[in-house]
Amino acid sequence: MTMDAEGTAAAAVELAKSLVGGEVIALVGDLGSGKTTFTTALGKALGVVERMTSPTFVLMHTHPLEGGTLRMFVHADAWRTDAAGLRGVGLDEFIGAPGIVVVIEWADRVPELLPPNTIKVTLHNLGGDRRDIRIERA
Ligand code: ADP
Ligand code: MG
Repeated sequence: MTMDAEGTAAAAVELAKSLVGGEVIALVGDLGSGKTTFTTALGKALGVVERMTSPTFVLMHTHPLEGGTLRMFVHADAWRTDAAGLRGVGLDEFIGAPGIVVVIEWADRVPELLPPNTIKVTLHNLGGDRRDIRIERA
């Protein structure tokens, strides 16, 4: 459980330490549960330097990562679309690709896009600033 947005960011930073590329991270949780907060902290920890905005309307943002073994951080959002829509903007080619970490908000809307080894992050708003965050690896 986290007590504030910084706590959720810290959980993302912890997860980031274990990522080597090729992972898909599925974020599941209601509006305001902290999916974007988690994603932004994860991206920053992996080396994204540009500002990260929510890809709700454009469906997907790609952020290059420089210097390490990771090449790219991909942030997708399934809220306003479906699997076909995300395939349409090219998400497929990033899933499982070497050096690429993919995060999908509202991932429960697109189960057919998620590989068997997807890392599932479930967020629940417990009221106020408290959030229950569960990270499950297949
Ligand atoms: P989502 O993408 O799931 O809709 P956001 O990350 O955009 O959620 O928004 C979460 C909101 O809740 C932000 O305004 C954030 O500051 C606030 N917040 C308060 N407490 C927490 C917490 N423990 N974890 C994450 N966000 C929190
Ligand atoms: Mg969001």
